Amino acid sequence: MSKPVVITCAITGSQTRKSMNPAVPITPSEQIESTHEAFEAGSTLVHVHVRNPDETSSSDPGLFAQVQEGIRRHCPGMIVQFSTGGRGRDSAERGKPLHLRPDMASLATGSVNFATVIYDNAPPLVDELAQAMLEFDVKPEIEVFDLAMLYNARDLLDRGLVKAPLHVQFVMGIKNALPAKRHLLEFLVAELHDVMPDATWVAAGVGRHQFEVAQWCAELGGHIRVGLEDGVRVSRERLAKSNADMVERAVEICAALGRAAATPEQAREMLSLKAAA
Ligand code: ZN
Repeated sequence: MSKPVVITCAITGSQTRKSMNPAVPITPSEQIESTHEAFEAGSTLVHVHVRNPDETSSSDPGLFAQVQEGIRRHCPGMIVQFSTGGRGRDSAERGKPLHLRPDMASLATGSVNFATVIYDNAPPLVDELAQAMLEFDVKPEIEVFDLAMLYNARDLLDRGLVKAPLHVQFVMGIKNALPAKRHLLEFLVAELHDVMPDATWVAAGVGRHQFEVAQWCAELGGHIRVGLEDGVRVSRERLAKSNADMVERAVEICAALGRAAATPEQAREMLSLKAAA
């Protein structure tokens, strides 16, 4: 049997707006409902940003708590991952919701240019967020937007600021950062195996690259991430009807290769997370 696939659903993000696709969930109740549909479709890991009522990105622990509680109630065993990134959030605020002890949180291990801004992750901030995750027993998902970030993750391991085995996400297709190229992903995975042999991995393709990268992940033995944070279409022709619509497409890609979507128990075991309470 081929290894099951943990399908992450990035339901909201900090940029994608309802005006781009009305299916983007903004309020906590919309987010919980959208996550539940994605869970039923085969997603076992939800990546969460929260928004203020005016749709701007928020670090409000109250909103994160509400979303987490709803997901835990309606999606038994699903892995909850909070974003500590996102534009429009003060760096001092980004670690604020970690005390809520989600299963995981994203941790970008360096700075990078995006299309028009710097995604700013200075070394002291990376250390501080890693330290907070250790303190609250939150597993980081290492976000690799550029190659150096992989080695920075190894450095965090060597300094005891994160624990092995790590889970690493490669992000491809953002302007000014890594392009979406299959041979580049193959190189990144080979380098990951060299630098951190016990790490698990996933890659996210942004915009029109979303399902192309999902296909490569399925073929190369990785996990998959899809969702309205990363793009609003399932194909050039068709706008996604929902996050679940995108998860269904990911499940089809896996099935064609003889891989099944992981159950919550399998997902937790593969990512070395404790069983759900
Ligand atoms: Zn995100």
